[in-house]
Amino acid sequence: MAAKAPGITSGFVGAVGNTPLIRLNALSEATGCEILGKAEFMNPGGSVKDRAALGILQEAEEQGLLKPGGTVVEGTAGNTGIGLTHLCNARGYKALIVIPETQSAEKIGLLRSLGAEVRTVPAVPYRDPNNYVRLSGRIAEETPGAVWANQFDNLANRRAHFNTTGPEIWEQTGGQVDAWVAATGTGGTYAGVALYLKEQNPKVRCVLADPYGSALYSWAISGQLASDGSSITEGIGNSRVTANLEGAPIDDAVRIHDQAALTTIYHLLWQEGLFLGGSVGINVAAAVKTARRLGPGHTIVTVLCDSGDRYRSRLYDGQWLSSKGLEQPVRAA
Ligand code: PMP
Repeated sequence: MAAKAPGITSGFVGAVGNTPLIRLNALSEATGCEILGKAEFMNPGGSVKDRAALGILQEAEEQGLLKPGGTVVEGTAGNTGIGLTHLCNARGYKALIVIPETQSAEKIGLLRSLGAEVRTVPAVPYRDPNNYVRLSGRIAEETPGAVWANQFDNLANRRAHFNTTGPEIWEQTGGQVDAWVAATGTGGTYAGVALYLKEQNPKVRCVLADPYGSALYSWAISGQLASDGSSITEGIGNSRVTANLEGAPIDDAVRIHDQAALTTIYHLLWQEGLFLGGSVGINVAAAVKTARRLGPGHTIVTVLCDSGDRYRSRLYDGQWLSSKGLEQPVRAA
């Protein structure tokens, strides 16, 4: 049902997207650039993945694949599952979520609280048939009335960003955007926005940000999928080029250490009052690196994917960080 007045949105679905574009003041002043963060943690399900979840569900409905009472199955690092479960509740479907047991207790607990059937599985590489993504595909095949969201290779994911996130950024900046910087998990956010912005202005520089342990930095720079090191960030990095990332424009790539990402999110908390997740640390640190490469006077847009609330027991816990060989940043007196 449509809302009756223009200021009213209709249900959960109506509240997805149209997020603020926040100027990160301290970093903008430090670099002489405009460093802008798309506030995706303000989506009603709390992350950038609400947009992909909605796009995937809407296309499945349009294609007649989902019937009332049907089940949506997905393998997810958490946020897509959270978005999908909210949407399933709102639209009368069941959600069955397969998640690696390495993901934060906050995300796994939240999925259960929302009412998803949650299966935690050991984290194994994609080539293993029991990898969470591949397992979720098999479960969907074996479950009557189920659809597999398949966020990594279902192009409805990047279409959602091409149709919403990209145009919002273009409008919010009045078309004054020099660079787009984002890490990729499925690649939906990065690719959808990059494709849209390039269509408006081919000069927009598209920069792929990557954590250590992911093969995409090497792939973007040299064409070879190769990785070294590891990362505590969740939801980003990949060992393969997904259908969503395939064909996306990439002008440059930046790799960020976890310690630098941590320093970045703590500074965002202390200097901007923004409490954000680990992938944001990679994104914003990469945006700053891009600002330094381009020099003052440029506008750089990135994504603030989710809230620090989802990682309180990890990224904001000194003991957990030291168990991973990382130092909790200390606030100056
Ligand atoms: N950050 C977080 C916290 C995420 O959960 C995800 C999604 N896996 C991403 C970034 C990356 O988004 P995308 O899947 O669109 O590449």
